[in-house]
Amino acid sequence: MTETNTQILLRSRPVGEPTAEDFSIVSSAVPVAGEGEVLLRTRYLSLDPYMRGRMSDAPSYAAPTALGDVLPGATVAEVVESRDPSREVGDVVLAYGGWQAFSVAPAKQTRRLDPDAAPVSTALGVLGMPGFTAYAGLTQIGRPKPGETVVVAAATGPVGATVGQIAKVLGCRAVGIAGGPEKVAHLTELGFDAAIDHRAPDFKEQLKSAVPDGIDIYFENVGGHVWDAVLPRLNKFARVPVCGLVAHYNATAAPEGPNRAPALMSHILTKSLLIRGFIQDEFARDHQREFLTEATGWIAEGRLRYREDITEGLENAPEVFNRMLRGQNFGKTVIKVS
Ligand code: NDP
Repeated sequence: MTETNTQILLRSRPVGEPTAEDFSIVSSAVPVAGEGEVLLRTRYLSLDPYMRGRMSDAPSYAAPTALGDVLPGATVAEVVESRDPSREVGDVVLAYGGWQAFSVAPAKQTRRLDPDAAPVSTALGVLGMPGFTAYAGLTQIGRPKPGETVVVAAATGPVGATVGQIAKVLGCRAVGIAGGPEKVAHLTELGFDAAIDHRAPDFKEQLKSAVPDGIDIYFENVGGHVWDAVLPRLNKFARVPVCGLVAHYNATAAPEGPNRAPALMSHILTKSLLIRGFIQDEFARDHQREFLTEATGWIAEGRLRYREDITEGLENAPEVFNRMLRGQNFGKTVIKVS
């Protein structure tokens, strides 16, 4: 092959928001597929908030990316060479190729996609890991009952938008929290019963009016000032699937102020709250297939809609990643690589 690979490597561990100096963009030889493997040309790279954790070496649920390694990430890719009978050249697959133009993977670790069933990029968003996260956290931890109030923040992102729309499908009242009037208007278009801007000066009062019967499920995506406003509004026996804390991912120190743990524990005790963290893959074996069937059906019926925020050019990935953590994305963040 005459082409070369382009890769984005982690050069240093970011302190606070990542900078261009934390990454290096290099050209290298296209890798070679071994027996049972496929050579993949990346079409789309998914950018997800969890990647900030991989850039750090603080203890977490997954090992950090080593300095000098390619940043990890889910990809939709085309098979350009196959050394496994289960995959053919031209197949489009879901893989975990990372921030690079070409990758090699064991064929068994890829999933073939049907481009006629749905745009292939949806395998990174509404029909992929973020969509499944929403489904699993809401149904398995939130356990919504018709008529209950479900609140979610980062509500125009692939996780939050899916949480709110599934809550509606299941007969709940859905309240979305997002940053800025354009995003708030979009939530109303998606069918949320109420939508609030967490940047508005009267955010707390708006939240209070939007949940006259309190909150039964708060799907926690962000933490920070949104969580502070939500906590006093939680009902007795409310459930809080703790999915992400994106407001804190670039933090370099603990938040200032008094220790609020005793007040939190008091809410948990007196309201019998269930606050349960999760990483989506714990539910994958038992619920992935049912999710794909359900979500595909809801999309076909127009009950589950999605929005993608696609930028062309792998070299833009570091800046686009930062924009997402700042809330400057609008929908699922994807890089179109080729
Ligand atoms: P999004 O595309 O929604 O992007 C993140 C969003 O977070 C931003 O667009 C912004 O939305 C919001 N945000 C950023 N900072 C703040 C802040 N200080 N206060 C309030 N909102 C903020 O991301 P995803 O849908 O991909 O992911 C959502 C969450 O789910 C993340 O926390 C992620 O880590 C988590 N996650 C967890 C998984 C698990 O297995 N536990 C799996 C996948 C995702 P806005 O402009 O509306 O404020």
